Amino acid sequence: MLVLLAIVAGVSCGGGPEGPEDESELAAARELMVATQIEARGVRAPRVLAAMRRVPRHRFVPEPLREAAYDDTPLPIGLGQTISQPYIVAVMTEALAPEPSDVVLEVGTGSGYQAAVLAQLVKRVYTIELLAPLAERARVVLAGEGITNVEVEVGDGWKGLPAHAPYDGILVTAAPDAVPQALLDQLAIGGRLIVPVGEDEQELRLITRTEHGFETRTLFEVRFVPLVREVE
Ligand code: SAH
Repeated sequence: MLVLLAIVAGVSCGGGPEGPEDESELAAARELMVATQIEARGVRAPRVLAAMRRVPRHRFVPEPLREAAYDDTPLPIGLGQTISQPYIVAVMTEALAPEPSDVVLEVGTGSGYQAAVLAQLVKRVYTIELLAPLAERARVVLAGEGITNVEVEVGDGWKGLPAHAPYDGILVTAAPDAVPQALLDQLAIGGRLIVPVGEDEQELRLITRTEHGFETRTLFEVRFVPLVREVE
């Protein structure tokens, strides 16, 4: 039935602009993505799964890659950057343990997709991107989706975003070679920082700020684009 629907949609739309048939096909692909790539690999948090089902990832990838938006892979978004594999977005979001009242910071806006997922789960998202054209495109896409609780800033995320600190959660989607001190400083007590650390070999760390200091857990190996350090 699903296959038939896909064939019919393919014929009637002929690869033209996104029509209602495409939308239902993409929605089916998104459901399948959540079931086979995310739930099947152990992501359990119901709110995170619901957010992954809701956000139309295909709107955040470059137009020619729309068909690949629900594939089990990162995709290029221009300027040498990538949107992460869907599973990685889900697993990092779950590790952040987002609460509805949280204010969170994302470092590395890229396409805006991770910010859109977080926006479903917390009160407010600040996201900072070094490359102005990516930040601008993310703003446009987020507004187009009617997402109003995300603020996109252009700047260097090594320094965090002190103006709105402290944060209940900070999620870094590019890899520094060491944990930036500014991000630790901008974490609230009880706040969680998710960060991939390293150069060629990177590990994803969950750092929690307690009343006494910081607790670090290493989650698993990952591969992200580098967090660019601006020359001082
Ligand atoms: N979270 C993104 C994917 C991020 S790719 C998404 O959902 O699509 C990593 C992003 O980090 C890139 O866009 C890159 O330009 C940005 N980046 C790299 N170094 C940075 C820095 N120092 N400060 C802010 N952003 C940075």
